[in-house]
Amino acid sequence: MGVKKTDIVLLDDKGIRCDGRKIDEPRRIMIKAGVLKNANGSAYIEFGENKILAGVFGPRDVHPKHLANTDRGILRCRYHMQPFSVGERKNPAPSRREIEISKVIKEALEPAVMLEGFPRTVVDVFIEILQADGGSRCAALDAAAVALADAGIPMRDMVSACAAGKVADTIVLDINNEEDQEGQADMPVAYMPNLGKVTLIQLDGVLTPQEYEKCANTAIEGCKLVYEVQKKALQEKFFGDTQE
Ligand code: ADP
Repeated sequence: MGVKKTDIVLLDDKGIRCDGRKIDEPRRIMIKAGVLKNANGSAYIEFGENKILAGVFGPRDVHPKHLANTDRGILRCRYHMQPFSVGERKNPAPSRREIEISKVIKEALEPAVMLEGFPRTVVDVFIEILQADGGSRCAALDAAAVALADAGIPMRDMVSACAAGKVADTIVLDINNEEDQEGQADMPVAYMPNLGKVTLIQLDGVLTPQEYEKCANTAIEGCKLVYEVQKKALQEKFFGDTQE
């Protein structure tokens, strides 16, 4: 949770957060599907100040071949931060954090992706973090799930992700970077909105059992809001403008 700075008010006496949001208000979310002509599927997301691109290839032959599964296709994910994505230049080589996030994103998407119909193949998901501002794994997951759908990969459900957390002893939706650094807890959640199943839950910080439940439910409500934006992005890609 980082070193405490004293000059930042995470929640003022009117219940307004450091970036002007209410406790249950997500940041602005914009998703565009099908932004790359050379990938089989793609999506770009802006989630607050996060700016992330996801590209999907496959199903295609697995290389190296020994990784192939004769019963079903496999999913591979790479979450990668550009050197300019954070305040101080990040080394472009994969860090432990990026390797961990790649793994949790793959595991959060796997329950939704129907790879049993594609034995001996791989679906690759490449995620580039162009700008990070807290909650980048959730935003990356949101873009990756839309990119998979854009690629026409059969899915049981969408995967929608959003974090909740605790700042100034209060459970709030969608933690930003300052809240992540200075707050008390950060809980990223991924959720299949139609099946009502959680595919990822992590917790950085300490919560009471009651706070844990409230935080998880708050994050799930956030996932449902994200789902609407994901659906709209796919509708716009496949059926044109969906302005009502
Ligand atoms: P998430 O982005 O999913 O919340 P973390 O909690 O690990 O993941 O990171 C929180 C935020 O910290 C990131 O979104 C990013 O803004 C910042 N951050 C992560 N890695 C670095 C880094 N190497 N240098 C500077 N800031 C970083």
